[in-house]
Amino acid sequence: MRKMAEMAGAKERNDDTMCYAGKEIPVLFSTDVCVAGGGPSGTAAAIMAARNGAKTVLIERGVALGGLAVLGCVYPFMDTHAPDSDTPYVVEVKERLRRHGVEPFDGVTQQTWHNPETLALIYDEMCAEADVDVMYQTVLVDTLQNDSVIEACIVQTIAGLAAIRARTFIDSTGDAYLARAAGIPCEHGYEKTGNNQPLSFRFEMGGIDVERLYQYVVVDLQEDWCKSKPPYFEIAEAMHRKQRYKLEDLMAKGVEHGEITQEEAEYMQAYTIMGKNGVMSMNCPEIPVKFSASDPVSYSKAVAYGRKMMHHIADYLIGHLPGFEQAFISREAAMLGARESWRIRGRKYLVEDDYHKQSRFSDAVCRTAWFIDAHGEKVSEKLPPGGFYEIPYGALVTEQIENLIVTGRCISASFILQASMRIQPTCMSIGEAAGIAAAWGISHNIAANVLRWEELPADKRSYVSAGQCDIR
Ligand SMILES: Cc1cc2nc3c(=O)[nH]c(=O)nc-3n(C[C@H](O)[C@H](O)[C@H](O)COP(=O)(O)OP(=O)(O)OC[C@H]3O[C@@H](n4cnc5c(N)ncnc54)[C@H](O)[C@@H]3O)c2cc1C
Repeated sequence: MRKMAEMAGAKERNDDTMCYAGKEIPVLFSTDVCVAGGGPSGTAAAIMAARNGAKTVLIERGVALGGLAVLGCVYPFMDTHAPDSDTPYVVEVKERLRRHGVEPFDGVTQQTWHNPETLALIYDEMCAEADVDVMYQTVLVDTLQNDSVIEACIVQTIAGLAAIRARTFIDSTGDAYLARAAGIPCEHGYEKTGNNQPLSFRFEMGGIDVERLYQYVVVDLQEDWCKSKPPYFEIAEAMHRKQRYKLEDLMAKGVEHGEITQEEAEYMQAYTIMGKNGVMSMNCPEIPVKFSASDPVSYSKAVAYGRKMMHHIADYLIGHLPGFEQAFISREAAMLGARESWRIRGRKYLVEDDYHKQSRFSDAVCRTAWFIDAHGEKVSEKLPPGGFYEIPYGALVTEQIENLIVTGRCISASFILQASMRIQPTCMSIGEAAGIAAAWGISHNIAANVLRWEELPADKRSYVSAGQCDIR
């Protein structure tokens, strides 16, 4: 096993250029940690690596950090349903929202009602304070490897191709892009059907009279789904799920009268957004599963298909849902909502049983109990109160590559288990641990894929296992 000191050559050589595909390209950074993807997990990983002493570069293809939680219009953060699951970084992000004037708690549910523009600002501030070099509009393209070590990643910047050398790489792309470029075996879709979870093309609608909507849904229709009150208010209509919602009749009527299609009617949900009065985040349209999150041609077709669905749904709500009379589409997501695309096969592999049996791992990096929410395939019962399972560090690293850690929704897990671990707070906690582990490995000359999380001093870890032994 090569130790990290031997890998440090890249940093010390500090070449100005590297050869890639027959071209000499500039080396933009020679750094300790390079994180690809600035979503909930990648931003956490970069900030925590830097805070723990590692020089860190974070590359993001968009122009805001937050991933689906900002670019994908996915808010609020769901509650993990696990007791005491918030790791220090998650607590801090929630506290920073409050300091920026966004009160994230409704006092009834445990979900965190955030505001995307504020969250993007907070992430910029946290990266600047930690001295993370954030590279926006920079797309990970490839890796350059020496056997089992990634020496550099190739990125497409606004100025063209460039290389970033690093001692440890963290793949937070959600799509396991870096891991796949490095040749790590990956899975995608449901083992039984090959289908990915459905994509969504989320959007925001402004001009909504939320009080009138509340009156209609909660008072007139007697819908008791939403436990909180405006300004924290959500509506739901999901015809194919287990629950039955009062708004279902309204959507069914739209299908009957030919104003919307069955697939447009099948999944509609909306949440208010703190600090954006009269604006709701639309958790729809859910695009049919014949469109794939892992086939580039199909994915591209899903964009136009989803946009058409979005406009049909918006027009229908404006025409028929009290409170929406003056509404309009105020923003569409800057990335499709992929619930699941690729997942790595790592040293440990989480499966559905880990949820039901509430597995504990000595190398656990966090806990969660969000139910299995594999749209269209399986929706599980919630675990009993107080129940949870843990996510092991072994699911973040691979046999094949020494200096790679993978975070967020593409860690090593089966399709069904991933449908539980993918919510934003859990992805943040995973990223937080990855950043700490990367910095620790570098400062102690331990390769990321053999590092033993449970051997870090407890006060250095963001989470200490509740079980301290592997129970499956
Ligand atoms: C429709 C939908 C609804 C959801 N609802 C909720 C909800 O209500 N609450 C909740 O908590 N969770 C929800 N989730 C789940 C949650 O939002 C995601 O699982 C979570 O954001 C995943 O975080 P991540 O960091 O792994 O990846 P992502 O959020 O996907 O972020 C990945 C980042 O990597 C960047 N990237 C990707 N490839 C490259 C590349 N090659 N080069 C550079 N950058 C790259 C992307 O631009 C992005 O910023 C929902 C998800 C979807 C799709």
